[in-house]
Amino acid sequence: MTKVRNMFRILRMPSESIWKDPVLSERLTRYRAICKGKKIARYLIAKKTPAYLNENVQDNVKEMWKTHNEARNEFNKILNEVDKEKLNLFELKTPEISFLDVKARIANKIIEKCHLCERRCQVNRRAGEKGICRLGVNSIISSAFLHVGEEPPLVPSGTIFFASCVFKCVFCQNHDISQSWDKNVTHLQEDEVDSSQLARIQKKLISEGAININWVGGDPIPNVHNILHSLQTLEDNIVQLWNSNMYLSHESMNLLVDIIDFWLPDLKFRENSFAKRMSGVENYWEIVTRNIRFAYIEGSREMIIRHLCMPNRIEKDTIPILDWVKKEVPKAFVNIMAQYRPEYRVHRNEYQDINRRITSSEMQIARQYADNIGIAWRQV
Ligand code: SF4
Repeated sequence: MTKVRNMFRILRMPSESIWKDPVLSERLTRYRAICKGKKIARYLIAKKTPAYLNENVQDNVKEMWKTHNEARNEFNKILNEVDKEKLNLFELKTPEISFLDVKARIANKIIEKCHLCERRCQVNRRAGEKGICRLGVNSIISSAFLHVGEEPPLVPSGTIFFASCVFKCVFCQNHDISQSWDKNVTHLQEDEVDSSQLARIQKKLISEGAININWVGGDPIPNVHNILHSLQTLEDNIVQLWNSNMYLSHESMNLLVDIIDFWLPDLKFRENSFAKRMSGVENYWEIVTRNIRFAYIEGSREMIIRHLCMPNRIEKDTIPILDWVKKEVPKAFVNIMAQYRPEYRVHRNEYQDINRRITSSEMQIARQYADNIGIAWRQV
């Protein structure tokens, strides 16, 4: 794909030596190729995929979904042919209405009865109603910078931290941006952005050398509509990376699954009762594993699952989660994380079971188990 390579600046890559690892280079082939300008980010393909939306019914969500699902077949065909270098994407006409346009329009409708996440608050955010995330139409950016502390294949990462989260984790390590973000109103007004500002932030990060756009927070889920609209104006060949608790509605997953190149999901809990006590959400396991499996089977498949080991939870969460990964998403990498700190509300009496750091013997059990069943974790 020489032509494509020439069309894009070859971006700064993470240390080339990491790619000598055969498992890493085999499982993240497409990701690496996009970073090098040899393959094309999925959202650019979605922009060139025509969607035949009947103008007379274009406000009808059911019709939009029908058009969306029909356009997906064409999208997959183009993606496949572009990847095999049988088709030059840039010789295709830009359609009047693209697959990406339909996604953005559907997201606009979703926030009028908001079900971007599985909280399904059903509030009209456009009319000023607020759901559990307390966000209106615009996004609040906490910070955006080149992150060099992410997993080695991902850096330098153009990380965009949104304020607010759909979870209420009692141990949140970022509670200042996820839970207490709306304390300072002046700060809020300064940091509120719409989709065109979001596109400009991405362009700036790319110009600074980002090899991906890393949507994170808090959590990016309440911002799906703005993210999709921002991509309508972006033209750069850059990896779109979804870094989230994955409590998305199946509708949001359907919007994202075609355009996200790399997935960085959390998988925290196996027991729903513990998830409810820790994060205040229902049906954690079924929803989050449904979405990770969907991204793996229907999406790019390239992913690193982050699992934060918690005190007294290796047997109850870590081991069953590793078993699930091995069985359901075997090519996913797992970052088995040891950086849990007792923060935020954990010092209260009712959370004494998690009021300490993880021990080295707990981490050893987790890592040894991952090795025993053949989970790839050392690379990340
Ligand atoms: S994003 Fe989730 S929490 Fe926020 S209003 Fe929508 S459904 Fe509710």
